[in-house]
Amino acid sequence: MGMHTEDFGIRLVARHAPTGTLLTIGDVPLERLRTYSERGELRCPECGALLRLKAGNIRQHHFAHVSLAQCATRYAEPESESHRTGKMALYRHFRRESPHAQLEWRIQATDQRADVFVPPNFVLEFQQASNSAEQWRERQRLYEDAGMCAIWFLGQVRYAEARSEPVRPISIYDPSPVPRRDFEAAAGAFRVREMERAMLEVFTMLYYLDPYVEMLTILLPRSWHAQTLRAYRYRLPLALARLTPNGLWTPLHAQLDEKTLRKRRA
Ligand SMILES: [Zn+2]
Repeated sequence: MGMHTEDFGIRLVARHAPTGTLLTIGDVPLERLRTYSERGELRCPECGALLRLKAGNIRQHHFAHVSLAQCATRYAEPESESHRTGKMALYRHFRRESPHAQLEWRIQATDQRADVFVPPNFVLEFQQASNSAEQWRERQRLYEDAGMCAIWFLGQVRYAEARSEPVRPISIYDPSPVPRRDFEAAAGAFRVREMERAMLEVFTMLYYLDPYVEMLTILLPRSWHAQTLRAYRYRLPLALARLTPNGLWTPLHAQLDEKTLRKRRA
């Protein structure tokens, strides 16, 4: 996935040492960030170590640790460029209705770093790497223990149609009360891994996010067979998604009945 060694310890948020302010890439003029960086005034919000601004032409602008020695978060993982693009897309979109949203938010109690926090209690995770079912359940459980409502957006790279069974229009004879024409509706078979299966023990649907075009692909399961999930597939722009007390809401949700939307496990 184009991982570089410097992908460890990259931050999109830095603390401005003299004022204590949090500075998010994209929210603060680049020239100001450059000045702070040159003066050595940028710190990692988690470990307090010195950060430098990296703002070239190719990779997304970010802050990097000068030394990683002090910085260790329990769930710290190297992040790819597309991961950063994805969490930035989530942050920018959901901040529109919630100005206090925070990118790279640390939960002290459980030592987790959420990709995005949206008050009062949403954490948004852009999950592109494979976790085992066990690892994923542990992260989900810690968020629940901390009183958080976690919403998981799978990287679009994880979306895989089964070659043996191409997607097709949803039949008019299909008895399910689901949209058949809207949102690029289709039925098909999809390859999923154990992490997705673990997610579907808790959630009704899978959400995939393409970080570059900011489109959501949604799978609404019909049945399972080993690693093959038969599902209805929909696509809509991230721009139409909102957060409600029940979790993520899109215009697709408005067309699904209560029974379909109810979680399998409370
Ligand atoms: Zn750090």
